[in-house]
Amino acid sequence: MKAKFEQILTRISIIDRDVNELNRIKSKLPDDRPYSSGLQLIFDKQINNLLDERDILLGQTVPNPPAWLVGDITNGHHKHEVIQTIPTIDPNYKNTEPTEQEVMSFIKALPKTEIHLHLEACVNKTTLKEMFKKNGVEITEEEFDKKFMFHDLNGFIQLFLFIQSAVKSHEDFSFMIDSLAEYMRADNIIYTEVFVAPTKFIQNGIDFDKMIEVMVKRIRELREQEGIEIRLLIDVSRTFGAENAMNNLNRVLNLKYPEVLGIGLGGAELLGPAKDYEEVFQKAREAGLHTVIHAGEDDGPWSIWDSINYLKVERIGHGTSAIQDSDLVEFLKESQIPIEICLTSNVFTGKYVKKEENHPVREYYDRGVYVCINTDDPEIFDVNLTYEYFKLYRFLNFSIEELIDLIKKGVYATFHPDKEALWKRVNSEIIKVRTKHNF
Ligand SMILES: [Zn+2]
Repeated sequence: MKAKFEQILTRISIIDRDVNELNRIKSKLPDDRPYSSGLQLIFDKQINNLLDERDILLGQTVPNPPAWLVGDITNGHHKHEVIQTIPTIDPNYKNTEPTEQEVMSFIKALPKTEIHLHLEACVNKTTLKEMFKKNGVEITEEEFDKKFMFHDLNGFIQLFLFIQSAVKSHEDFSFMIDSLAEYMRADNIIYTEVFVAPTKFIQNGIDFDKMIEVMVKRIRELREQEGIEIRLLIDVSRTFGAENAMNNLNRVLNLKYPEVLGIGLGGAELLGPAKDYEEVFQKAREAGLHTVIHAGEDDGPWSIWDSINYLKVERIGHGTSAIQDSDLVEFLKESQIPIEICLTSNVFTGKYVKKEENHPVREYYDRGVYVCINTDDPEIFDVNLTYEYFKLYRFLNFSIEELIDLIKKGVYATFHPDKEALWKRVNSEIIKVRTKHNF
């Protein structure tokens, strides 16, 4: 339905007023408190949402626009309704440094890839509520909201289990893939490799083969319908021991879907040393599967060394503690093994880094280590890929050129069978977005 011109103007003036007010309050926030960065981001998100809405309004067509807007073509003689697009802001006009909101809108519009995120943590609240309802689980709004207001690792684990408890049948995995696609669309992510950890679901009586089949079916539909590309990495899990991991690997080896790329090792790092999984990873490698691991997230640099030496993994998830071992940083630089950086997640768990400003990603990048940017658990940490990149800009002085270089690194860190073609597609979009946003 087309909005009336006056309605659009009124809404835009309200948006401008609110954006000014939010910017004014934001500028008064103290910047030396532990909560400052988080609060600033909350303001930015709100401001950014309003500016997005403003952009949409500016691009709308309106029936019967006033004469002064369309010139004399109407001249009082027209018989038909005249439709005119509201003029948009001149994209070439820029006489100052970009504002943070402009940078954020620009990052959002850039095409991106993401390769370290967990399927359960991509299920948005609406989908989650629908899944509970569909599966006959009674839950009040209050109970639901309380789960998301967690403050520590235990709360995080409880929330993860809570999300898993909504899944009652293999059909539910179709909803989860849809929720992931929604997350991707909102942030212009064109390709993801997502972790699926089957152990808990299998324990709850869900059939592994059926669950993968449902996901692959939906993934193929999405690719067909809108070009969104999703691939799966099966997290064989270190929380339940090596035998369970081997069982999970054997299940993966029975599959014949190109969408399932390989295995990962997530779960409690301190409880499952990498070398215990040597046999599992060797078998996976020999079968042609890709292999990745979470390491250096909750344990020291030795955990990363073990992952490289015993498991010969192709990528390292987190790698935060590598900064403590200069030889390791040098090795990572030489080998160019990609490190999947998850900045918000690392600050939240707080094991090796308490503030965004202190995250080692700046030093890794400067020293030539191969890094790419990821969210890990977007719906749980209330973060998205745009904000992950934006945090690098704000807190760690990454320039626009460096952010684009990181997007390129993100493309080449994937297991996509034709990375050159993927980069070509991403790069041609980047050029268009740069022109449109004048960056
Ligand atoms: Zn992770």
